[in-house]
Amino acid sequence: MTYDPDNIFAKILRGEIPCDKVYEDDHVLAFNDINPQTPKHILVIPKGAYVSFDDFSEQGSEAEIAAFMRAAGKIARDAGMIESGYRILANTGRDAHQDVPHFHLHIFAGKNLGRMIKPPEK
Ligand code: 5GP
Repeated sequence: MTYDPDNIFAKILRGEIPCDKVYEDDHVLAFNDINPQTPKHILVIPKGAYVSFDDFSEQGSEAEIAAFMRAAGKIARDAGMIESGYRILANTGRDAHQDVPHFHLHIFAGKNLGRMIKPPEK
């Protein structure tokens, strides 16, 4: 899948549309989800043009990957999620209903998240 530079997160990265930023460094941006599924719902994205988890894993530099992992943990800590817990999710591709084709982690917290992800109703 080729990267679409007009996806919504690319626009956020270029400052063309606003976001409720919670973290930023040279390689990473994180912001609150516009349609939160849990009381705390943060999106973490690399600044580079990567479509998916596997794209980032294959094409990302060591510095980008290290920064991303460090940032995701820091964001969870700084958001006060450590004691009660949190869930990290990366929807990838059609079957996972990835809507935005720029790699992102969801970090969910703020309530009991249940044991399993429920499959969609048929
Ligand atoms: P996906 O289904 O691709 O894993 O998740 C995309 C997420 O991006 C959704 O949770 C959706 O609410 C969020 N989202 C879509 N557009 C925007 C936006 O313009 N701003 C923010 N902050 N979140 C968005």
